[in-house]
Amino acid sequence: MNFLEQKIAAEGKVLSESVLKVDSFLNHQVDPQLMQKIGEEFAKLFSDAGITKIVTLESSGIAPAVMTGLRLNVPVVFARKRKSLTLVDGLYSAEVHSFTKRETNEISVSKDYLTSDDVVLILDDFLANGQAVLGLMDIVNQAGAKLVGVGIVIEKGFQQGGQLLREKGIRVESLAIIDSLTNGEVTFKREATH
Ligand code: 5GP
Repeated sequence: MNFLEQKIAAEGKVLSESVLKVDSFLNHQVDPQLMQKIGEEFAKLFSDAGITKIVTLESSGIAPAVMTGLRLNVPVVFARKRKSLTLVDGLYSAEVHSFTKRETNEISVSKDYLTSDDVVLILDDFLANGQAVLGLMDIVNQAGAKLVGVGIVIEKGFQQGGQLLREKGIRVESLAIIDSLTNGEVTFKREATH
């Protein structure tokens, strides 16, 4: 098991056959040392990609994204979530259906912080059905920026997001890939990066 898989095995709580709770180090309390290691891994994986900006989604993507941005020496932009669909000037917006919260949010990024000159790495905490990443990709497209890849802290390999994105030819790097959450146990897929 890699360092992240060990942490998940030790502290992750299986809430159901499809939801893993990792509030002790990622989604509520944050483990800075672990985030630093995560940032180092993503920075290593994408070091030659010419990234100028990391784009993530508030709030749980911010900690791993900032640590990666620190290592790659690039700024981090987090898309903001808003409840209602309102057209506001100066923003790129997309709709995202949340897997865990079962609600649709509009996410948005200011045009000031993403431009057609940017080479973007999208980062997020979890990959389930891929809706959050697709929303972020929509925003990157609207800006005319170039997407070089997607970094995911925990991918649930038994859901469709990873396959959907990889079939589109997108480079997806996940630091831990979960094969199943059946019987209250976390099983990892062996090919996770590092
Ligand atoms: P997707 O958009 O890929 O369907 O779901 C990814 C988003 O939903 C992530 O940004 C994450 O916040 C949340 N999410 C999905 N599955 C889980 C899970 O099992 N545990 C936690 N803590 N968050 C999840």
